[in-house]
Amino acid sequence: MSERYDVAIIGTGPAGLSAAITLKIRNKNILLVGSKHGSDKVGKAHEIQNYLGMPAVKGADLASAFENHIESMGIEITEDKITSVYNMGDYYSLLSKTNKTYEADAVILATGVSFGKPYPGEEAFLGKGVSYCATCDAPLYRNKTVAVIASTPQEEAEADFLQEIAGKVYYIPTYKGEVQVKPEIEVIHEKPVSIEGEQKVQSLVLADRRLDVDGVFILRESVSPANLIPGIEMDGNHIAVNRRMETNLKGCFACGDIVGAPYQYIKSAGEGNVAALSAAGYLDLRERTHQY
Ligand SMILES: Cc1cc2nc3c(=O)[nH]c(=O)nc-3n(C[C@H](O)[C@H](O)[C@H](O)COP(=O)(O)OP(=O)(O)OC[C@H]3O[C@@H](n4cnc5c(N)ncnc54)[C@H](O)[C@@H]3O)c2cc1C
Repeated sequence: MSERYDVAIIGTGPAGLSAAITLKIRNKNILLVGSKHGSDKVGKAHEIQNYLGMPAVKGADLASAFENHIESMGIEITEDKITSVYNMGDYYSLLSKTNKTYEADAVILATGVSFGKPYPGEEAFLGKGVSYCATCDAPLYRNKTVAVIASTPQEEAEADFLQEIAGKVYYIPTYKGEVQVKPEIEVIHEKPVSIEGEQKVQSLVLADRRLDVDGVFILRESVSPANLIPGIEMDGNHIAVNRRMETNLKGCFACGDIVGAPYQYIKSAGEGNVAALSAAGYLDLRERTHQY
């Protein structure tokens, strides 16, 4: 049985880390999921002029200050990527890329923004041939033909894994640089255009050709919020929240870039703090009134 946490925080950028610190102070049992190295948007920034108390700080230095702060409070980061979050009524169930299930009474979404738009057909065929998780869905494609659209070299290992199960794997990198996948995998350097089919996926259309496939794995750094958590209310491309960082789902909070511009470190960290205090208040009230 999976352990039940008080709060699951998804994302280890400034918003998620700040939420984790506040919830730790409020003595909550937290699951903090994301990359142990934090957000690339922090670590790879050249020089930051507007983070309070740290003038002209290099991104790498701010990232290591965040890491030290988290470590000094004994907060652990679970290195994983959440692929789906389900509202189970009085708790949330989180599924991950490594095929684990986590459970928490409340959830804080701090996954940042991805500037990639969904491909035409992606949302319509989600669960009908479109997948975001090779580990979870590979067994559905035993001896079948699949395409992998990958946004980072980290996904090469996922394609190698799929190749062990599927009959044929096409790999379409949308990043620059050398690709290192198993020789059986066909690497195609072409822009994906759309996903097509009738009841299920039948083809992936590229700029200059069409691939007949049974499945398309779209492996991006982040999944669009509407696909990550069914039923979440959006405001354009962002999650709709109020000033307490509450979403339309009870016990679900969101903070940082994912709730809208301006995209700034200090705003994200501040909203992480607000989301954490709201989550703690929600749990405390639930405890007092036994609303579960
Ligand atoms: C090059 C660059 C320079 C910048 N310079 C400045 C600046 O000078 N000043 C400033 O204020 N702002 C700056 N910004 C903006 C700033 O980076 C963002 O506003 C800030 O990082 C947002 O923090 P966040 O925590 O909301 O999201 P992010 O920093 O994007 O962190 C989200 C994290 O969640 C992870 N994640 C996503 N999905 C999942 C999932 N499903 N499961 C687990 N983890 C997941 C992501 O991998 C990421 O690590 C800059 C941005 C860039 C790209």
